[in-house]
Amino acid sequence: MKKYFAMLLAGMMAVSLAACGGSSSASTAPAETEAETEAEVTEEGTTEAEAPAEAGEETAAITTVEEGVLHMATNAAFPPYEMISDDGGFEGIDVEIATEIANKLGLELVVDDMEFGSVITSVQSGKSDIAMAGLTVTEERKQNVDFTESYATGIQVIIVPEDSDILTVDDLANDKMIGVQDGTTGYIYCSDDYGEDHITSYTNGAMAIEALKGGKVDAVVIDNEPAKAFVAANEGLKILDTEYIVENYAIGISKDNSGLRDAVNNALTELIADGTVQQIVDKYITAE
Ligand code: GLN
Repeated sequence: MKKYFAMLLAGMMAVSLAACGGSSSASTAPAETEAETEAEVTEEGTTEAEAPAEAGEETAAITTVEEGVLHMATNAAFPPYEMISDDGGFEGIDVEIATEIANKLGLELVVDDMEFGSVITSVQSGKSDIAMAGLTVTEERKQNVDFTESYATGIQVIIVPEDSDILTVDDLANDKMIGVQDGTTGYIYCSDDYGEDHITSYTNGAMAIEALKGGKVDAVVIDNEPAKAFVAANEGLKILDTEYIVENYAIGISKDNSGLRDAVNNALTELIADGTVQQIVDKYITAE
């Protein structure tokens, strides 16, 4: 566990960066995106940035996968960051922040829903413009995509049945089976710490929770906010007080599109500074 203290510290220091300013009256319309599951890649579209409000002198052309559209690669099974709404559209913190970013850039947001393990490759291979999926910044991922500044903090936590004998992180080492999600940092940390033999990986958090309820795994390691949503929706489960690791969420963008990266990053910086991001977060996460 020692190696994580440094990362934990780095994460905690970054939390202070997420401080937000005053509030503004942002009206967010989350579910306006079409329920498209595949990005129809026809040709490279070039969209003139419509002199983004308050974005200074930025008027350079922004290239996106599809003209006039910002394609967001995500896994819409990660509440409250991204999920499918009652009307079959998409909603959540990431969806709303991405909508605001798209608005600033004069683009329409389209959500490309896929497995979490595909969001980075979707951006790398030019199918989507941004990967926004409660996506943790890691050194390894930085080899594959560029990241914007961080807009949220995630904490890997441990979900167990209420009557579990797992009381702390250290108890996971007692020959337990741990459920994680494919391709996530939870998977990486747990397989590093406890070995592949003690890990079962699922395509999304909901499936890992079903396995926990069915006794197929002893614990699930997942990000704290989805963990809260899953525990609220399923009886007999609890989240251990011990935090496993603190991380930063950011938006991943192709290394070949620095123009888009800078435009998205500038828009995000403004949305953090004017309180819009905090306002969106507050809609979905109530302070304890
Ligand atoms: N934050 C975790 C990661 O980036 C999990 C994200 C997710 O499952 N959507 O690996």
